[in-house]
Amino acid sequence: MPVGRIAARFLGAALATLAGVAVAQPADLDARLDVIERVNETRPWPVSQAMLDELEPELDGATLAQRTRADLIRSRNLALDERWQEALELLDEILKRPIGIDIRLKALERAANIHQVLENHSRAFALLSNAIELLPEATRAEDKAGTLGFAARLHASAGQVAMAMDYAARARELARESGSPRLDCWTLHVLAGVQLEAGRKALALETARELLETCQAAEAPVLRAVGSAVMGNALLENGEVGSAIGWLERAVDQTRAAGYAVGVDDARVDLGRALVRAGRGEEGAEVLTSVLEHAGVGDADLYVVHTTLADVREEQGRHADALEHLEAAEVVQQRLFDQRLARQIAYHQVEFESEVRDQELELLRQQNRVFALEREAEQRRQRTRWIGAAMIALVAILLGVLLLRMQHERRRYRRLAKRDGLTGLYNHSRFHIVAAEALARARERGKVSALIAADVDLFKQVNDRYGHQAGDAVLAALGTMLAELFPPPDVVGRVGGEEFAIFLPGSNRLQARQRVEQIRRRLQPVSFGGESIAITLSFGIAEARGRTRLEALRSRADDALYRAKRAGRNQTVDADEMWNDGA
Ligand code: GH3
Ligand code: MG
Ligand code: MG
Repeated sequence: MPVGRIAARFLGAALATLAGVAVAQPADLDARLDVIERVNETRPWPVSQAMLDELEPELDGATLAQRTRADLIRSRNLALDERWQEALELLDEILKRPIGIDIRLKALERAANIHQVLENHSRAFALLSNAIELLPEATRAEDKAGTLGFAARLHASAGQVAMAMDYAARARELARESGSPRLDCWTLHVLAGVQLEAGRKALALETARELLETCQAAEAPVLRAVGSAVMGNALLENGEVGSAIGWLERAVDQTRAAGYAVGVDDARVDLGRALVRAGRGEEGAEVLTSVLEHAGVGDADLYVVHTTLADVREEQGRHADALEHLEAAEVVQQRLFDQRLARQIAYHQVEFESEVRDQELELLRQQNRVFALEREAEQRRQRTRWIGAAMIALVAILLGVLLLRMQHERRRYRRLAKRDGLTGLYNHSRFHIVAAEALARARERGKVSALIAADVDLFKQVNDRYGHQAGDAVLAALGTMLAELFPPPDVVGRVGGEEFAIFLPGSNRLQARQRVEQIRRRLQPVSFGGESIAITLSFGIAEARGRTRLEALRSRADDALYRAKRAGRNQTVDADEMWNDGA
């Protein structure tokens, strides 16, 4: 059987909407639409169209869903009346509405079906792939089965029989689950057609027998008519010409009664072939010639008609007529080849597009993944940056603290380097530097200077008696007192354990002695640990004269101090008086 006849044959079946008989709806308009839908499936299309026209004024106040139901019926009637363009425009318009998934599926499938009949294959495949994408969202078994069944037929027409069989089997499965005889009948039509297309003749006959039985229960004249046609065709393909003729005659009557013109052509072509095969050439030729009178006959039918008629006329010796039919057949055959090619190209195009779409989807998915990874990396970077910043801040704070500590320490060390830690006075070396400078300056100004050397008397005993800490406290108290009594420009230093030196620029030895007396008057017992520690000091005084260096001055003062110790301590010795005293 030439490709394309299957498609035409099943148009009626597909257009026989599988909406099923709706139960009574509460709203009046819905209830009337139910009735019209039912009539649309069970009576020739002009009957339901008349009812629809009558309902028209009431549709003004209808909901979008109600309006769409009416329009779907109208689109089917337009298609059955072969007003294809009007049907397609209406379906296009329906598809633009915000309608439910099930209605959308039905509209898509119907539009695809019409495009297939019009040999507009790429559009048919595109609409089908739209519908198939919607399948997972669909809820009604009949809508899903409708789409799958149509997919089966469309793939069969493009020579994709394996896929067609697969789709048909899935449609059958859904139909069985639904328990609707109408759906069962229709999917069997589809299956039988696909099986014939695949050359599975015996299997197709089996299916045809099952469908006849099933379709008795479905009260749809179009379905029953096509059922007879499929049965006749299957019998003819299996060589059972006698029985085929009976079924095909019935199919012609039934399709005509259902007002289904394309179905009538199909049935008459098969009937004509069957008659010719049965040796009833003239009767067959008559039937086939009547097909040619119908302007809308499809190319697939035309081809069969012309080749069969050519055979008949050849047999009858009417060679000129035979040649005429052969030439016509050749023209049609060329068109059929083109159409088949177009169907296959359309199929592959949609396949290719969906493959490309899959690739694009995968690409998008990968981009999303990359995006997510990038975001994660960015977050990680941010986190690292924060941690880094926090670390830097912490390190900065630590460094700052360290720096402050270091500065503090350095200041302490610098002070320690110059000052004695216990008394706060200049230490030995610093005292010498500062005092030497002061001595030089005084000398420059032509002034005398004096140096006092002081040593705590019997300090070892203080330590022994009161402890080392008590000794320290005594030294610290002494330091404080000396610092008070000898502010700058006087220079005071702790030059030994319990030895002090006081340089007095601009003072002579007599003035120095007075200052020593000041110390002795201020000297108070030091309180420590509940004890009162009384001490005395011995002093040595030396006056700087001429170019005396500080070391020499100090040495002389120390000698005087030594003398004071020797003389019994707690007294002052002036180096200049020393020899007189000592003498
Ligand atoms: P004198 O000078 O009267 O002859 O007797 P002294 O006991 O003071 O003399 P000496 O030089 O023998 O002892 C000095 C003592 O001073 C020895 C040491 O234990 C004590 N001394 C030195 N430096 C410190 C100090 O920083 N703290 C304390 N507590 N004692 C110190
Ligand atoms: Mg001493
Ligand atoms: Mg001493």
